Amino acid sequence: MLKPVSILLAAATLAACSTGDDKPKPSEAPLHSRMLVLDTHLDTPLHFERAGWSFADRHTLADDMVQLDIPRMKDGHLDGGFFVIYTEQGPLTAKGYADALAFARGRSDLIDRTIAKYPDAIAPARTAADAERLTRAGKLVAFKSMENSYPLGEDLALLEEFYRKGVRMAGPVHSRTNQLADSATGEARWKGLSPLGKQWVAEMNRLGIVIDASHSSDAAFDQLLELSKYPIILSHSSLRSAYDHPRNLDDARLKALAAKGGAMCISTVFLSEMNMTPARGELFGQYERIGTMTRAEQAELHRKWRELDKREPLWAADFEDYMKMVLRAIEVAGPDHICFGADWDGGGGLKGIEDITALPKVTARLKAAGHSDADIEKMWSGNVLRILAAQGK
Ligand SMILES: [Zn+2]
Repeated sequence: MLKPVSILLAAATLAACSTGDDKPKPSEAPLHSRMLVLDTHLDTPLHFERAGWSFADRHTLADDMVQLDIPRMKDGHLDGGFFVIYTEQGPLTAKGYADALAFARGRSDLIDRTIAKYPDAIAPARTAADAERLTRAGKLVAFKSMENSYPLGEDLALLEEFYRKGVRMAGPVHSRTNQLADSATGEARWKGLSPLGKQWVAEMNRLGIVIDASHSSDAAFDQLLELSKYPIILSHSSLRSAYDHPRNLDDARLKALAAKGGAMCISTVFLSEMNMTPARGELFGQYERIGTMTRAEQAELHRKWRELDKREPLWAADFEDYMKMVLRAIEVAGPDHICFGADWDGGGGLKGIEDITALPKVTARLKAAGHSDADIEKMWSGNVLRILAAQGK
């Protein structure tokens, strides 16, 4: 999720949604459909409490803002991923922490309730073995992750509560610096991690939760990498060589991440200058609250969003720019250290890769670039599952 700055991303999604003439050709589907395909950052829980909306219904970009649902997961052969407990950054006060904790607990429960409604289609996963078992049983895989550990406040014992709830990946910070770490887009208060943030790393390692460095500042990334006993991940990040933005990772850090066994899951955001006009900012604010809107309000937001996409597209980048970055990242890190986290429903999506039904095109392009089937599957899921299995070992 990309708020304030990140909010922008959602726009990208919508900005992109257009024609449908980029639909994968049937001939591209077989290899992709044979592989286990995961995405490490799904902001779709934002939609789970919408009035009149169901995760089991098929939506289209022409009739709804959501980018994935159970039928389209099947269409795009997305076998699952990490559903995110995203908590907006608030004040670093006792009340701020308490409100955030209540929100995060509620969001975790909402994810559980939603997944539990469709037991024949999708089920919760906590380990790499779970993912493989569910896939063999023909079910979609629902891991849980936390974007922003702000809800823990100053009580790291709460991390174990979220571990027990099934969280297996978490990042310390979002778009503003908090009690644990400096944000890539916030003030450099701690010069990386705070003293509490360093203890958070040890507790994450003790529990065996994967550390997610997306949204962390460069200095915080360096310290997460240095302090963690196990490989870490960036669940949704882009390359700074593709677009120079503090949210993106430079080549030297990508190499350092790979050298310690970690992986960068490539996002579709911050590949170009962001066209965040006041009109877009207003709609972004509304998008964040879509779960509380009536059906008529949701429809009106969708209408305005698509209208704005025509007048003021948010991003200049497209599928070609995205694939250029993906191929370059593989060149820098090697196929053992790349994965995918497009930031679906959190601002991800570009022209030509507008929702998850476009995923077979990515596989086809990787194949055309000469990557082996085995390497492509590692990038779609093997690397993430390896890192998950390596925690606490
Ligand atoms: Zn994010």
